[in-house]
Amino acid sequence: MARILDGKQAAAALRERVRAEANALRADGVTPHLVMIRVGEDPASAVYVRAKEKASASTGIESRTSVLPAETSQEALAERIADLNRDPRVSGILLQLPVPAHISEEEMIAAIDPAKDVDGFHPISMGRLLLELPTFISATPLGILHLLAHYEIPVAGRRVVIVGRSRIVGRPLANLLSSRAAHGNATVTLCHTRTRDLGARTREAELLIAAAGRKRLITAEMVAPGAVVVDVGIHREPDPNRPGKQRLCGDVDFPAVSEIAGAITPVPGGVGPMTVAALMANTVAAARRQSGRSAPQR
Ligand code: NAP
Repeated sequence: MARILDGKQAAAALRERVRAEANALRADGVTPHLVMIRVGEDPASAVYVRAKEKASASTGIESRTSVLPAETSQEALAERIADLNRDPRVSGILLQLPVPAHISEEEMIAAIDPAKDVDGFHPISMGRLLLELPTFISATPLGILHLLAHYEIPVAGRRVVIVGRSRIVGRPLANLLSSRAAHGNATVTLCHTRTRDLGARTREAELLIAAAGRKRLITAEMVAPGAVVVDVGIHREPDPNRPGKQRLCGDVDFPAVSEIAGAITPVPGGVGPMTVAALMANTVAAARRQSGRSAPQR
């Protein structure tokens, strides 16, 4: 039976460190401040934003959410972002995605000051990541790095297979894990829908990261005995044990794969909590950098 990599526990440890740094900054007169912008009434977005507000409150970060009507024009949204860019009290700006179809996600992300881009989606942040320069690493990849570090899972020299090449998860993770940094030095294979014989690739993995957004895509036959499996997927489905209720599942067939794997993240309670805690870490780092202070020694 696989060891469970408990994201709630690892996220609590990360939040604790973030809280300590936020408190130290506050004692110095610097208040980390996250502003989230949500456009329209996407119910999943509302849930995610509430989780981020709660995590902010618990880590000593001030947070505020602007909820703009779905019909907000791109110009009005750009003006709102420009105001926040100029406001010296605001450390981090997060545009909750998706935005309504008449708004260009790319243009709006590019409108955020890279110094306040705590989501790490700005082209400058992404480019710096690719160049192995200090930057904001987007929250899910950063959360996964923290999770691996928390459980002392070695990465260097290992065969890593990532399923999914999205801009927010697979692609940055592939770069981070293959970088020359302490969290990197793995040999990474990045799979997608055009990959031939996905199972043959995933069976090569010592560390398998599933971020395809396909319910239970990864079955037990696709996993090497003893592999570490990180499940990024989040899906809602009817709960067979609680009629009328929903439950969450991931990209991995958890019951079967946990019989084979050496370690595995659950859904819920795996990568999700790490993502939120990593956003808090980025926000405090933003406040620190803007105030000209250097990173605390660990
Ligand atoms: P996305 O943008 O939809 O990208 C999915 C990627 O997976 C694409 O690169 C796609 O390949 C690939 N893919 C899809 N089906 C595949 C298959 N059958 N075989 C191989 N590759 C396949 O997804 P995302 O935004 O990265 O999200 C992925 C999942 O993670 C979703 O369930 C999402 O809800 C979840 N998520 C969770 C968190 C968290 O905090 N836990 C954060 C972000 C996302 P192509 O490029 O060829 O289309």
